[in-house]
Amino acid sequence: MDKDRLKKIKKIVLKKNPLVFDRLTEKQKTQAFKFNETYKKFLNLSKTERKAARQIIQAAEAQGFVNIDTLPTKSSTPIKKVYKVSQGRCVALATLGEESLVSGTNIIASHIDSPRLDLKQNPVYEDLSMGLMKTHYYGGIRKYHWLAMPLALHGVIVKANNEKINITIGEDEDDPVFTVTDLLPHLAGKTQADKKISDVFKGEKLNLVAGSIPLGSDEEKDRFKLGVLNLLYEKYGMTEEDFISAEIEAVPAGNARDIGFDRSMIGSYGQDDRVCAFTSLKALLGKKNTNKTAIALFFDKEEIGSEGSSGAKSNFLEDFMSDLLFIKGQDTDNRSLRKALINSSCLSADVNAAMDPDFKEVHEILNAAKLGFGVCMTKFTGVGGKSGSSDASAEFVGKIRQIFNKNKIVWQTGELGKIDEGGGGTVAKFLAKSGMNVLDCGPAVLSMHSPFEVSSKADVYMTYLGYKAFYSDND
Ligand code: MN
Ligand code: MN
Repeated sequence: MDKDRLKKIKKIVLKKNPLVFDRLTEKQKTQAFKFNETYKKFLNLSKTERKAARQIIQAAEAQGFVNIDTLPTKSSTPIKKVYKVSQGRCVALATLGEESLVSGTNIIASHIDSPRLDLKQNPVYEDLSMGLMKTHYYGGIRKYHWLAMPLALHGVIVKANNEKINITIGEDEDDPVFTVTDLLPHLAGKTQADKKISDVFKGEKLNLVAGSIPLGSDEEKDRFKLGVLNLLYEKYGMTEEDFISAEIEAVPAGNARDIGFDRSMIGSYGQDDRVCAFTSLKALLGKKNTNKTAIALFFDKEEIGSEGSSGAKSNFLEDFMSDLLFIKGQDTDNRSLRKALINSSCLSADVNAAMDPDFKEVHEILNAAKLGFGVCMTKFTGVGGKSGSSDASAEFVGKIRQIFNKNKIVWQTGELGKIDEGGGGTVAKFLAKSGMNVLDCGPAVLSMHSPFEVSSKADVYMTYLGYKAFYSDND
């Protein structure tokens, strides 16, 4: 076969796997870097689900979105941009389109909770010459990641008199931080060296160092604990019992950073899944009024199974859709609601694992996502034989693929690791339950669930463009 013909065949039959940076023009590259500057700011201000929710609401309100639960029952002017909040930790935004909701909406669903250490309900105690605080980890962490590093406290406390206070300690340069101590290598031999990781790092040993100046004389019992509690009382007027009605999260202190000589990547806590929250937020806010209604959902509790009233297993989307039917003046009966849901198209916006150069063995190279190769479509997740997964239909994957190709979105596909290597899931299956089409779609990251997750700026930008194309092109 002559060379030209072979070249032609190769061009036709082989799948292209372009690198985003090879495809971006200089102008687009500048735009991508600029976009990532605002992304880093969002990450820095969104260290908890509550703070992320607040950032999302503020950005939406600045563009004229109104809280659907505070609207008068009858309004003379048609309302186009609304939001809804649940528990301060779960948000939905919608831009209402001209078309009836019953013919379906375009939904992008991400989550804004991330793995971390929560303070226990009775956290403060003392040992030796220190005041300490007990934590209970949240989500899938590798416990050793959280040792010997500066941690900040973010949270909310509801006092006995019902006063609510927000705290952030450890993010300002002048703030103190907290830390979980680790064993020195000199003495780790017998206790740790030859043991399994799960036997070495225990949840009950993830305790925060919180102070070392006692209150009172050395005859005083618990004077290091008292030292800590006294400072909390002086600063916040809070008592030991107030921890009962509080949500305080220890998260890595400090800001998102550029990685690499070329600054092409971002290292930060919480990119799973605030990268999808931010990119879908931007895609929705930038959307002009169109035919179909566009919805962005930002769920809580994904990392612990999407449970509870702010997780994707709740009726939050149904309630929101029912509210939308109402303000649009449509029938709000159960059948209309079910039709609106079943006819909707949804991208489950979550990260996938990028292939790690140091741990290639857990991935299958032909089907693993790679950093810098664009937004990743994940047809199914799950464990073992796709167990527990919502497997997107060929038709729906085909539709998204067409939208992406038409809009020159650089995309790739990914499976979460080799078969039987492990696995995971997203909110996809909880949304698919109502009958709508759902496909997992988001950037691939390195060091997922660590205190310093790594994303590619090119992928972040391409994810944003992909979501924008989905909203606009599926109209
Ligand atoms: Mn996730
Ligand atoms: Mn996760």
